Amino acid sequence: MLSYRHSYHAGNHADVVKHLVQVAIVDYLLQKDKPFCYHDSHAGAGLYSLLAEKAQKTGEYQGGIGKLWQYQATSPALAHYIALIKQLNPDGELAFYPGSPKIAAMLLRAGDSIQATELHPTDYPILASQFARRRHSRIEHMDAWAGFKAMLPPLHKRGLVLIDPPYELKTEYQDVVAGLQSAYQRFPQATYAIWYPVIERAAVEAFISAIVATGIKDQLRIEYCPLPDSSGFGMTGSGMLVINPPYTLANDMRAALNELAPLLSAEGEFQVHQLVPE
Ligand code: SAM
Repeated sequence: MLSYRHSYHAGNHADVVKHLVQVAIVDYLLQKDKPFCYHDSHAGAGLYSLLAEKAQKTGEYQGGIGKLWQYQATSPALAHYIALIKQLNPDGELAFYPGSPKIAAMLLRAGDSIQATELHPTDYPILASQFARRRHSRIEHMDAWAGFKAMLPPLHKRGLVLIDPPYELKTEYQDVVAGLQSAYQRFPQATYAIWYPVIERAAVEAFISAIVATGIKDQLRIEYCPLPDSSGFGMTGSGMLVINPPYTLANDMRAALNELAPLLSAEGEFQVHQLVPE
C-alpha cells in the first residue's frame, strides 16, 4: 500500500523539526575534509510546491515553515535551516519546500555521496530526475529495507542514514527496528536519524523502548509537540531518535528548539535527552 504522498504534508511542523536536525547533523559532518555518505531510506519526491493543490488543500505548511521562514534566528542550526528555505524562495514568496534529499544536495560537497530509495511510482522519477547530473549519487526505485542490504556500507565510512517512513501501517514500527539493526550491523560508524510521529503516547513510548532494547549504544531523543497529547486523533508532535549523534547535537537542538517552539505554538513542549549512553 503506497497511498501516502508527502506533498500534502511538506513543510509542516514535523518536517521543520526533522529537517532542522538533519541540517545540524550534516553541518557537523561537513566540518571534516573527508567525504561522507548521506543515505535516505524513504526519500519522497525531493522538492514540493507549496502553492500546488495538495499543499494548499491541507495547509499544513502554514503551521510549520509558514510561521518561521522570515524569522531571524540566533541559534546556528535554526538560522542555517531557515537560510536554505530562503535560498529556494529568492522572490520573497514561500513557494517551494525542500525534501530531505534536496536538503542534502544543497549542503553536500561534490565529493560527498548521496544514496536514496523511494518506492512510490510517481515520486521516484521526480526524485531521480533531480539527481540525474550529480556525480556520486545513487537513487533507486527500491524498498528501503532492501536498499540497506544492497547499498550499505557505502564507500565512505562516515555518514548519515535518515529513516523516515510514513508509518501508514502498524507493522512499519517493527520494520524500522529490524531495518535499523540490519543497517547498523553493516554500517556501525554512521549517525542514524529515525523520524517518528507522536499520535498516541503509549505507542510512542513502546516504539522508543523497542529501539533502546536493540542494545545499540549512544541514542539521543529529540521531540517537539506543538499540541498536548491526545488519544490517537491525529499527530500532535514528532521526534527524531538519533544514534551516534554528533557530540554537539543535544546542546544545539536545545538552543534551536528553545527559539523555535514559541514561534510554532503557545502550548508546545520539547525534550532533548540521551536515552542510551555512549
Ligand atoms: N524523507 C522525506 C522528506 O523528509 O522530505 C519524506 C518521506 S515521506 C514521510 C515517506 C516516503 O516513503 C514516501 O514518499 C513513501 O512513498 C515512501 N515509502 C513508503 N514505504 C517505503 C518503502 N518500504 N521503501 C521506500 N520508500 C517507501
